[in-house]
Order: sequence, then C-alpha cells, then structure tokens
Amino acid sequence: MEGGAYKPHVLVLPQDGQGHMNPMLQFSKRLASKGIKVTVATFVSATKTMKRASMITFYPIYDDVTEGGMHGPGGLKAFIEKFQTIVSKNLLDFIKTSKHQINCLVYDANLHWAIDIAIGLGIPGAAFFTQSCAAISGYHMLNEEMLLSDQSSADPELPPALGVPNVPNMGSESGRFPAILQHILGQLSDLEKADWVLFNSFDELEGEVVKELSKRYSVKTIGPTIPSMYLDKRLEDDIYYGFNLFKPDKDFCLNWLNTKEIRSVVYVSFGSVAVLNAEQMEELAWGLKQSNNSFLWVVRASEKEKLPTNFIEETSEKGLVITWCPQLEVLSHEAVGCFMTHCGWNSTLESVSLGVPMLAMPQFLDQFSDAKFVEEVWGVGLRPKVDTEKRIVTREEIQVCINAVLNDEKKEVIKKNAKKWKELAKEAVDKGGSSDKNIEEFVAWIVANC
Ligand code: UDP
Repeated sequence: MEGGAYKPHVLVLPQDGQGHMNPMLQFSKRLASKGIKVTVATFVSATKTMKRASMITFYPIYDDVTEGGMHGPGGLKAFIEKFQTIVSKNLLDFIKTSKHQINCLVYDANLHWAIDIAIGLGIPGAAFFTQSCAAISGYHMLNEEMLLSDQSSADPELPPALGVPNVPNMGSESGRFPAILQHILGQLSDLEKADWVLFNSFDELEGEVVKELSKRYSVKTIGPTIPSMYLDKRLEDDIYYGFNLFKPDKDFCLNWLNTKEIRSVVYVSFGSVAVLNAEQMEELAWGLKQSNNSFLWVVRASEKEKLPTNFIEETSEKGLVITWCPQLEVLSHEAVGCFMTHCGWNSTLESVSLGVPMLAMPQFLDQFSDAKFVEEVWGVGLRPKVDTEKRIVTREEIQVCINAVLNDEKKEVIKKNAKKWKELAKEAVDKGGSSDKNIEEFVAWIVANC
C-alpha cells in the first residue's frame, strides 16, 4: 500500500447525532492512519463543518430528509422509513458510481438495512455499534425472551451466565415511543449478515460479554476511539477534528478550569439528547449548590429555562453553566474530580478511559446498563439512588454522592480503579494492544479481500 500503490477504500456510514458521529469519525481516522482510503457518507451540514479532516473524504448523503425529524408528520416511524428510502438510494448510487471502488462498507448498526445494499453489490460489510457490548447482549436477551410485555419493570436482571447484570431499561421511553423500541431492536435483525461486528469498547473492559457475543458474531472491539492525544497527552498524530453538535466556548471554560484546584470540580453533562424533567433539574441545581464544590454544568440552550430563577447568579462563585463544552478536554483537565453523567456510552467510555470517577444518573435505554457497570463492575463511580416516591434523585442524595466521590474515604478505591482502567484503555489502543491488533486484523482482511 506504500509509495502511491492502490489503497483499499472503506465507506463509513454513521447515523447522524453526536454520539454516533464522534466514534465513527475517530475510527475512520484510525483506518486512514493504517493506509486505508476512507469516505464518510453523512449529512450535508456535517460535511461542511468537518472540512479540516484532511485524512478523510466526506460525501453528503442525506440532508432535507431530516427535516422535522421524528417530530414531523407520521412521527419517528415515518421518519425512519423516509430516511431509509432516501439514504438507500443515495448510497447505492454512490457505491455504483464511485471512481475509486469501495472495498468495504462500515455502517452504523442502527442503519442495519445498509448491509443488504452492500451484499447486493458484492461488497463486504461491518456493523459498527456505538453502544457497549453489554447493552447489545441485553437487547438480545430482550428480543429472545420476549420481555417486551414487561417493559415497565426497571432494570430486569439477566441470567448471570452472560455476566451482564442488567438489561438496558426500555421503561416508559419505549412505552411512549414503541417506534424507538422497534428501531433499537432492529439493530439486531440483520446482524448475522455482517462480516464483522465492531464495538467501540475494548476486550479488557467487557471481556466476558465480548466472549459471549463472539459465539454468535465475528466481534472486534476497536476502542476507545478517543484520539490518542487525550489518552497519553502527546500531540503527535492528531490535529484533533471532531464533530460538534453545538459550538463550544472552549477557551472560556478551560480558562475557568485553570483557576480551580486539582480534582476539585464536578463536571455535569447529560449529553446531546436526554431531557431532565423540571423537578429533577431543580433538585440537581440545589444539590450542586449544597455540596459546596465547584461545578461545571453543561445545560443545553433548550434546557436552560428549567434552571431555578437566579441560580446562575447565586452560584457564580463556585459554578459555571455553559451550553456545550469540548468534553474530552474537560475530562482530561486536572481540575476535574468527577463526572456526573447520564451514562451515554461515549461519555462513559471517555470518562473510564481518561480516569475520571463518575456519578451515574442514567435516563433511558443502554444508559442503565452502563451505569450498573460503572458502579458494580468497574468500580469507577457511584449511582445516586432514585427516591421511589418522588421518582427523582433528591438534592440530599446528590450532595452525599458528590462528597463521597470527591472527599470521602470511598474516593480512594474509586480513584484507584479509575486509574487502572485508564491505563488499560491506553494499552488497548497502543501499538500491539487488543484494540490495535483488532484494527490491524480488520485492515489486513480488507486488503486481502480487495
Ligand atoms: N459532548 C461534548 N460536549 C458536551 C457534551 C457532550 O463534546 O458539552 C460529547 C461527548 O464527548 C460525547 C458525546 O457528546 O462524545 C455524547 O455522546 P453520549 O453517547 O455520551 O451521549 P448522547 O449525546 O448520545 O446521549
């Protein structure tokens, strides 16, 4: 592949959304760094904002189709169908007419129907999951045991054989939006057709579950996909480019962190999608204030009106509320002592890999199994208890848990575990590590099949 020789060409198809674009883009960069030509097919505005990604080519594959999204006429179901029809056609056209032949399609497992297009054109395909291996095992259980009739029970237990203590919580979310449930479980429907099933995770982190899933599929863990400059603080290979749903005010928030003591700040974020109810938002606000620690809280513009009146002014000495931040830089900052998170898989993996203890406040779906792993399996954080009557996490509980992670004797054990997992994450992606080897094998397989 050297000296201008033929480069195999991989087409990467992420679903839109922060938690999908980020890991698939970073994985694309890893493939490119190993001599693969990569084209990322994505929505038009993303191709414009990510121009700096010179190692990768972007191809705009969908645009107006997202108009109205799941809130348009017909709801989520109609939206997904329309999306599939348009993207399938554009994908087919692109692959057929690409000057540089496509040798493999890496598609977001949420867009599971893409494998049929690849097969139809005689191209190998790899499904890419942006959730944990444990969550996908959980969905399998749900699918197979027909638990759908009992969606409302929170955290049903899985048989210990899987080593997964928790099924993702389908709870009220799926009850209100059955199309979400269908969409989520749809990820599994064509999986056996894929040549590879890739996970943004690493073997050491989810060993037992990886083994179980490997009995069914050709699983390869290739994560964490976090740029190496964050994992080992070297600025060698990466000019970091990523996808940002909102514009972060980077200097402002990093300068603020620079003024804080080492490991003293609670970083709070519920990701790009989760919506807290007003009561929970208020409890969280007062819990942060009462804990008397410094906090950096990402409250998306659409959520800001739920903050208690005058909260920002009243807490300005200790706290900073911003609408979006450069999360990897925040988590790598030495002033950050813990991360209060909704446990989206990217946030969880980023925190594990950067050695930041967590306060796990899951809101829906796979966030519940991620939270359980954070507390019970990896021992890198605590999960504040939900008050069963009020159905929220109270300010008192928030205060107690923050202080336990930042100040109590518990903090030493959690810190030790966090350090261990941080080292293992770095080892996994370093040359010769488990994920690096998996990527090498994947690349060798693509080359052999050209
Ligand atoms: N993120 C960010 N800035 C923020 C909040 C989140 O860059 O202020 C990034 C974060 O680093 C992660 C992604 O957004 O990569 C969120 O993905 P996750 O799976 O955690 O949650 P989702 O948004 O999909 O619920």
